[in-house]
Amino acid sequence: MNTKTYDLGVLHGDGIGPEIVPASVNVLDAAVAAAGADPITWRELPLGASAIDSHGVAVPDETLAALDTVDGWLLGPHDSAAYPEPHRSRLNPSGTIRKHFGLFANIRPAKAFRGGNAIVPGTDLVIVRENTEGFYADRNTFAGTGEMMPTPDVAIMHGIITRAATERIAHEAFRLALSRDKRVTIVHKANVLRMTTGLFRDVVREVGQQYPDVTIDDFHIDAATVHLVRRADKFDVIVTENMFGDILSDLAGEVAGSLGIAPSINSSDTRAMAQASHGSAPDIAGQDIANPIAMILSSAMLLRWLAAKNEDAALTRAADIVEAAVDLTVAEGTTTRDMCGTASCSGFARAVVEATSRI
Ligand code: ATP
Repeated sequence: MNTKTYDLGVLHGDGIGPEIVPASVNVLDAAVAAAGADPITWRELPLGASAIDSHGVAVPDETLAALDTVDGWLLGPHDSAAYPEPHRSRLNPSGTIRKHFGLFANIRPAKAFRGGNAIVPGTDLVIVRENTEGFYADRNTFAGTGEMMPTPDVAIMHGIITRAATERIAHEAFRLALSRDKRVTIVHKANVLRMTTGLFRDVVREVGQQYPDVTIDDFHIDAATVHLVRRADKFDVIVTENMFGDILSDLAGEVAGSLGIAPSINSSDTRAMAQASHGSAPDIAGQDIANPIAMILSSAMLLRWLAAKNEDAALTRAADIVEAAVDLTVAEGTTTRDMCGTASCSGFARAVVEATSRI
């Protein structure tokens, strides 16, 4: 059957993380079994508020060392805004991990479900977000935070766009577009941030010349938000810098039905991490009402990434089963509150596990 067994890290994180991450592990176990692949070996690792309590830091060295040895991992959300100082002022856990492992590509699909509650039905787009620089000052430096306060009343940050990082993310976007509808939209703000986002736009267009089958257009970030709300179903692949991508993907997730259904994967050429697009949702944590779909589908993306890397047909089948089981569960009317349903987080996950045997 499959070519290898997989060791995957599990980091529950904060807020709704301890609810949606175990739900995803259960679904993956069921899908892998249904696909006839070998069981996944899970390795739980400390992260977030509980790691501050147990290890004195949100991302312990032992967690980074362990992640170095596994095939990939599921990262729960973190509520770093609620950490005590000095932890709150440090680079947050997902930023730390993305930076440590050079996970430069954040791939964020937004796809409406049949029978779901999309604002724009038919939405099926992917945001390809550059993950290492741009206007996220806390991760675009080798050392230091990229922000400073010369006086208590003056705050300065810098943004960075490089040709190398833009070329790298552009290739990701064009390769992805070739496997889809062959259209790439560049989102920038080159009428104001002429040099930085202008460089981003121009370099993506240059790289696009190597992909003559892909059509390219571009929008300013403000116009892109309008077009997303009006006609999200007309987009295919959107490529953009770090902060624009973060904001746009929350919007795209909601337009497709709920932020709670928007998955994502963070990858380099050699590593991948599944991470829902949304945050830790502290307002609904501990109530078993969160939507686990984003985390479940992020985990399926990780399986697909591993399957492609290892040419593992059984694992591709497992990823197909996860996605089909989620589709089936929603189509049969089982959804959580954010999708206007009544299922609990754990109840929804149980329904998906059951559905894996009917795919
Ligand atoms: P971050 O900056 O860490 O991404 P955020 O400020 O964008 O976090 P979220 O934690 O993503 O905020 O929450 C935004 C809103 O979406 C909240 O009302 C939250 O309850 C809701 N939400 C987020 N994820 C889910 C989910 N999985 N299921 C249901 N509701 C969710």
